[in-house]
Amino acid sequence: MRRTAPGHALSAQLRTSIRNTATHTERGAAGASPIPVDTPGGHPVIRFLDPGGTRYGIPTWPWGMAPSGLYTRSQLREIGFRPVSPGDPVGQLMWRSHRGDAGGIRTALLYPIIQTVQRATATPRQMAALDRAHAARKTCPDCRENVGYTIPAHLGICLDCASLYAKRVA
Ligand SMILES: [Zn+2]
Repeated sequence: MRRTAPGHALSAQLRTSIRNTATHTERGAAGASPIPVDTPGGHPVIRFLDPGGTRYGIPTWPWGMAPSGLYTRSQLREIGFRPVSPGDPVGQLMWRSHRGDAGGIRTALLYPIIQTVQRATATPRQMAALDRAHAARKTCPDCRENVGYTIPAHLGICLDCASLYAKRVA
C-alpha cells in the first residue's frame, strides 16, 4: 500500500514543527566542496545563502529558509517518506551549530518532495504527521476553518474568503 506524496502544500506550521524535531544528524555528501571555516560578514542568512550554488557547489539555504517542496531526509522520515534517489540532492541547508565539528557549521541535503516515496512501514507518529499535513492542506490560513477541500494553491485561502476579498475589491 502506497499513499500519495503530500505534495507541495505542507503548511508552514508543519514544516516548522518538522524542522524543530529534525534530528540534525545529517551531513553534506562526501566529496562536497569544503566548507569555509569562517567568512567575513558572517550573518548566517547572507553567509549560508547561495541558491545558485556558486560558493558551496550545490544550491544552499540557511536553516529554515529552504524553498517550499524541499525537505531533508530527517524531515521526510518524520512524515514517513524517503528520497527516491538519495544520491541526487538538489540542494542543502547550512547552519551554525555548537554540535558541529566542521568549524561549527552543519549541513543537511535537500530533496524535492515530488521525488520521494512513502516508506514501507510508517510508524503511528509518522501517520499522525501525515494526517496533520493532509488536514493542513484543507485548513484556510485566513479563517482557520478546515473547509473539507484542498485550499486552491492559486488562491492560498478558501473559496469563501476569496469571494469576500473579491467583493471588497469590487
Ligand atoms: Zn477561509
